[in-house]
Amino acid sequence: MEQLPISLDLKGKKVVVTGGGAAAARKTELALRAGARVLVVAQHLGEEFHELSHHPCLTFRAGSPAPEDFAGAVVAFAASTDHAEDALSRDMARANGALVNVPDRPELCDFSMPSIVDRSPLLIAISSAGTSPLLTRIIKERLESTIPAAYGTLARFLGSIREQVAERIRDNRSRRHFLEKIVDGPVADLVLAGDEARAWKQLEAEIDAHGRASGVSPVGEVYLVGGGPGDPDLLTFRALRLLQRADVVVYDRLIGSPILDLVRRDAERIYVGKMKNKHELPQEEISRLLVKLAREGKRVLRLKGGDPFIFGRGGEEIEMLAGEGIPFQVVPGITAASGCASYAGIPLTHRDHAQSCVFVTGHAKNGRLDLDWASLLQPRQTVAVYMGLAMLPELTRDFIAHGADPNTPVAIVDSGTRPNQQVVTGTIGTIADLAAAAGLTGPSMIFIGTVVRLRDKLGWFKPLPGRSADVAAARAAGEDARSSGPTSSARGKRAHNDRARRSGK
Ligand code: SAH
Repeated sequence: MEQLPISLDLKGKKVVVTGGGAAAARKTELALRAGARVLVVAQHLGEEFHELSHHPCLTFRAGSPAPEDFAGAVVAFAASTDHAEDALSRDMARANGALVNVPDRPELCDFSMPSIVDRSPLLIAISSAGTSPLLTRIIKERLESTIPAAYGTLARFLGSIREQVAERIRDNRSRRHFLEKIVDGPVADLVLAGDEARAWKQLEAEIDAHGRASGVSPVGEVYLVGGGPGDPDLLTFRALRLLQRADVVVYDRLIGSPILDLVRRDAERIYVGKMKNKHELPQEEISRLLVKLAREGKRVLRLKGGDPFIFGRGGEEIEMLAGEGIPFQVVPGITAASGCASYAGIPLTHRDHAQSCVFVTGHAKNGRLDLDWASLLQPRQTVAVYMGLAMLPELTRDFIAHGADPNTPVAIVDSGTRPNQQVVTGTIGTIADLAAAAGLTGPSMIFIGTVVRLRDKLGWFKPLPGRSADVAAARAAGEDARSSGPTSSARGKRAHNDRARRSGK
């Protein structure tokens, strides 16, 4: 984080503005709106001050800024637009302990002024830490048009009911759940429609209903949510909404920090994935944990990589919940096969290449792959292998042993959809060595079938340059060692593409 956003209470506090032009007038107006006492120091006030100059909290002193002007000031705006004078004002203000902002000179500022969407008392501040005022303005415009003006009234109403609700619903979590329902329900609708009297009545009724229900021991709910393959943009709207609602999030190793960052700040987080040198929590224990947390009345979000019902053991986890009568819902996610294929430019089906696609796992049982080879070796079919990297040499060897053409194209998409995505392409005959040379770390999807060739035309996602450099190098090394085979020229082209992308061509 470049800067810490804080909301400063300036009521009755001293703010100094130096300068008499448009920039100074804008800052003066904001400080007055926030209830500050403002001293403006300038040779004279321009016409931008016309409306402000009679404000009871504004004092004007004609002249150049002097050290005593800043005595007792908490904030100063050096806005004369004269660089030398602004630098001097900044030094005098700082010497008095004030925080200084110099408009349009981020290098001189102690703080930047965010763009504001004002639905007082609700305020939304947007800041790019001075890097792009244009971007903050565009975001502000979007928010201005999507957040109704009446949200200010709603914020005030919620402020006014706080004490009463706190008195009658003492438990913090249950109060938060209650208020979330209020914000989403008829009470808020009535406030937004301007009928506060009925809103109060409705609120009374809902508090009563809550009181009647609270004698019953609370049962929470479990949300089994697919977090997708990694890019947070691939979450569903519902996943995002529930991430913001959950009391506790139970997650495992496939969930990266960009997605965890979207979890409600105060929610408890429980990691149940594999730790270094330790096993992950057995499935049974995870299910029991979910049941226990829900029985405590919590909203429990079980966050899984990809889709919870595709090689995610999501079904097993909720079986116990169903048996125990705990309410749950399942939110699908984009599965790794689909996410990785899209981000690697490999259509899973294609009229000219594949009419079907099968999802299998390359996980070994007792060191052996247990796959239905007859169904995998169908022509015009794409095979998407999950959890196959560790067994790649055995997997490709067995494919060939069961009659697959060693020249069938294969792609491995490692850390798909993430900024460090890495794609290695080859054939069934060459891919194991190429993958080893590229030092892939997983998670990895393996795609087998002629659709892989389309990547040359359809690859679009640009991962971090460092990673693609590795791939290009690994590929080149692989190619030197094995220069034959129909896809070697395709590999060469891809390596070239990666290099071209890196250099921005
Ligand atoms: N439920 C998940 C799959 C879990 S199994 C889903 O629907 O995607 C774990 C396997 O998924 C990993 O071993 C890997 O094969 C694959 N995987 C998950 N995320 C991936 C990613 N970002 N890139 C490549 N493969 C991924």
